[in-house]
Amino acid sequence: MLKVEHIGIAVKDLQNSIPLFEKLLNTSCYKTEEVSSEKVNTAFFQKGETKIELLESTSPEGVIAKYVEKKGEGIHHIAFEVADIEAEMKRLVAEGFVLLNEKPKEGADNKLVCFLHPKHTNGVLIELCMEK
Ligand code: ZN
Repeated sequence: MLKVEHIGIAVKDLQNSIPLFEKLLNTSCYKTEEVSSEKVNTAFFQKGETKIELLESTSPEGVIAKYVEKKGEGIHHIAFEVADIEAEMKRLVAEGFVLLNEKPKEGADNKLVCFLHPKHTNGVLIELCMEK
């Protein structure tokens, strides 16, 4: 793992949260993007080397909608950049971690991503991401 690439924050709606985070971080949202396979709209902010990714559900059935319903808005995942996602997935499986997707999948922001089951990471949802 190279660094924390971004922190994902689940929100109820981007319309309220984008201006809030623009004020908080004193920087403009540089990109919004829908990831239809994940049923989310995302919004990105850059601070130094790290990004903040806001996640809004596009469907009441989506994982973010369910998360917000259960736990409320808040930190949803931490994403680490990796140089070789397949090698890192293999390494983590060998260490006993459980992947939520067997193969890297398309994420927001031009990335291949893989999530780790939070049951084996002290309740923290971890994302691996690699620039495509
Ligand atoms: Zn993410």
